[in-house]
Amino acid sequence: VMKIWIPCPHLCPWYQHFTGSAGGLTPVPMLQKKKLQSWFQLSNGDWELGKILSTTGTESVISPPDGKVLKVKTESLVPANPDILDGVDDLMQLSYLNEPSVLYNLQYRYNRDMIYTKAGPVLVAINPFKEVPLYGNNYIEAYKNKSMESPHVYAITDTAIREMIRDEVNQSIIISGESGAGKTETAKIAMQYLAALGGGSGIEYEILKTNPILEAFGNAKTLRNDNSSRFGKLIEIHFSETGKISGAKIQTFLLEKSRVVQCMEGERSYHIFYQLCAGASPKLREKISLKIASEYKYLRQSNCYTITGVNDAERFRVVTEALDIVHVSKEDQESVFAMLAAVLWLGNVSFSVVDNENHVEPLADEGLTTVAKLIGCNVGELKLALSTRKMRVGNDTIVQKLSLSQAIDTRDALAKSIYSCLFDWLVEQVNKSLAVGKRRTGRSISILDIYGFESFERNSFEQFCINYANERLQQHFNRHLFKLEQEEYIQDGIDWTKVDFDDNQDCLNLFEKKPLGLLSLLDEESTFPNGTDLTFANKLKQHLNSNSCFRGERGKAFSVSHYAGEVTYDTTGFLEKNRDLLHMDSIQLLSSCSCHLPQIFASNMLAQSEKPVVGPLYKAGGADSQKLSVATKFKGQLFQLMQRLENTTPHFIRCIKPNNLQSPGSYEQGLVLQQLRCCGVLEVVRISRSGFPTRMSHQKFARRYGFLLLENVAYSQDPLSISVAILHQFDILPEMYQVGYTKLFFRTGQIGVLEDTRNHT
Ligand code: ATP
Ligand code: MG
Repeated sequence: VMKIWIPCPHLCPWYQHFTGSAGGLTPVPMLQKKKLQSWFQLSNGDWELGKILSTTGTESVISPPDGKVLKVKTESLVPANPDILDGVDDLMQLSYLNEPSVLYNLQYRYNRDMIYTKAGPVLVAINPFKEVPLYGNNYIEAYKNKSMESPHVYAITDTAIREMIRDEVNQSIIISGESGAGKTETAKIAMQYLAALGGGSGIEYEILKTNPILEAFGNAKTLRNDNSSRFGKLIEIHFSETGKISGAKIQTFLLEKSRVVQCMEGERSYHIFYQLCAGASPKLREKISLKIASEYKYLRQSNCYTITGVNDAERFRVVTEALDIVHVSKEDQESVFAMLAAVLWLGNVSFSVVDNENHVEPLADEGLTTVAKLIGCNVGELKLALSTRKMRVGNDTIVQKLSLSQAIDTRDALAKSIYSCLFDWLVEQVNKSLAVGKRRTGRSISILDIYGFESFERNSFEQFCINYANERLQQHFNRHLFKLEQEEYIQDGIDWTKVDFDDNQDCLNLFEKKPLGLLSLLDEESTFPNGTDLTFANKLKQHLNSNSCFRGERGKAFSVSHYAGEVTYDTTGFLEKNRDLLHMDSIQLLSSCSCHLPQIFASNMLAQSEKPVVGPLYKAGGADSQKLSVATKFKGQLFQLMQRLENTTPHFIRCIKPNNLQSPGSYEQGLVLQQLRCCGVLEVVRISRSGFPTRMSHQKFARRYGFLLLENVAYSQDPLSISVAILHQFDILPEMYQVGYTKLFFRTGQIGVLEDTRNHT
């Protein structure tokens, strides 16, 4: 059966023929005989292709492949593309760029292991959840010498290299997508391609080895992804004059440190803990007093120790080898492992009530003594740091005893802080090893692997920061695409004002405006001794209700209209997480102990300290401020990141997770659709739709459709005049096309009409 589109009434004047009313096009008799196909929506929201059996005005009878017959509203039918367009490797080649057609095309390719598809300038990558034969040296060679051109991470990376050299402009590859969509794998595939260019000194090999290290310390098993990155990463790879790799620099964003002390049932803490417990040699185990994973409360609480198909002991070997390669000395490695053991033992420190005011002290058991031994302080000091808090009142220092929950918070804050400093220190060591030599040219390609938009049942401070970052990146994305489009229109003399796009600036203002924006108000409330999550939520409602992207919700909640949809945030824990305090006592402890910590902490120490004043006072601004709030620090990082990206030519890769089971072969339309929306692929489609996405040169157009002209003008005139004559003869509405100097620009679907007439004449 031949497949044909049912024209959409909004887009296509041809629709009138279909419904029997008068119109401008010559009726095409064939259409009545052949069974037409069109998309219609099932009750579960999925789209299916069906044959149109009959149409009477507002209703159509349609037959899906299963042989049933259904009645549907004619106007709910969405046009399908002709068969010849099945599985095109750029979505922009589709005559109809509607959602079902996009979904179908991606699925068609996915089913054939063609996981990469272009959407104009964007590369869409669908996670295969299995090995696909698309990588390795043969493929790299094929993309290098251009004997292969189908969409691929290699192709986009190759373009980046070429443009870097040709335009002498730095490049960026921006990878986004939700958890488990394949961002980190994609980043590694791009790095693989770059590394194949070689460096000479083996630096490319070192760069690849940073992956197992960062993944061990920054990735964890979550319910969504067995290897989920809990931090954002930008790696800037530098090139020499000769186009070889000369070095690299890694920047990380917002590590989820709460995972160290707390994680959900079925998830794990950071891989490195389990790797260490499983893989440490007997000698190392003894030296750092290490036990098996299930002996540690921090690891025990989520009731999950292993990952199917992963050998933690073997991974440990790989990580230590990688540490060797990036020049972290054996001695430093041992200190790192000792600190990891200290974190684990800290979790085992427990407390008992010591007076009738419910003050507590840590039990002097194996946990406490081992921590003291590992970090190199005496047990008494550690005990004090975990059970009291020094505060300054005027010129006096008073000592306050802690309650159980305060003591636990203090202990956990210490563990989180040791871990996050360790992480930062490691990144610093890696960077030292990868540092670009003197011969730097300043040319680079940056790869950004950053958490995608998140919207859960319950959304907290982490989602708030992540979605804010995505809002910024989305603006960068939009502006770049608009610019590309605009350039092409202007070049061809097209009236650019006929294309209107909206931006997400309103939402960004909601976050960034001073003094009345989400971030400012959060910081302000964080500085108030009596500020609570509730007073914060109330302030938001009081000041931000007029912003169209904001909505106050009941209790401590509020909603933000993000570009990817509305998200409701629960402010519980916002202030605490934003302040992220480590008490002075802990800092003093860490700076005085005799282990490696003082060195590791040296740079982070001041940044973490709290002013020893009465109460949990916190300063966000002012001359004597010592610590930035988490949100402010993140915003600063983000601005710096955006600035860096603005000076590059961006290449976008959007990763899509086809199912929530992490399994191959399953493609859930609804899930894919929602991600296409969130990561801006449908935005690309929308942008193109609101513009004139189909382009054809006058020559080609005249050659292809000239013979349809009733009068024989085709041979006597220039291609532009022939084009215009064709457009007139077929009464294509003037708002549906624009005539450029060299090309015709059409709204979506218009070529389909002509194409069809052509095929049936
Ligand atoms: P997160 O945001 O949680 O870090 P992510 O987008 O980085 O998620 P990845 O860790 O890259 O997701 O991918 C999840 C898993 O999907 C991988 O561990 C791997 O099993 C599989 N996967 C992703 N991309 C590919 C690919 N190109 N080929 C084969 N398997 C893949
Ligand atoms: Mg990842």
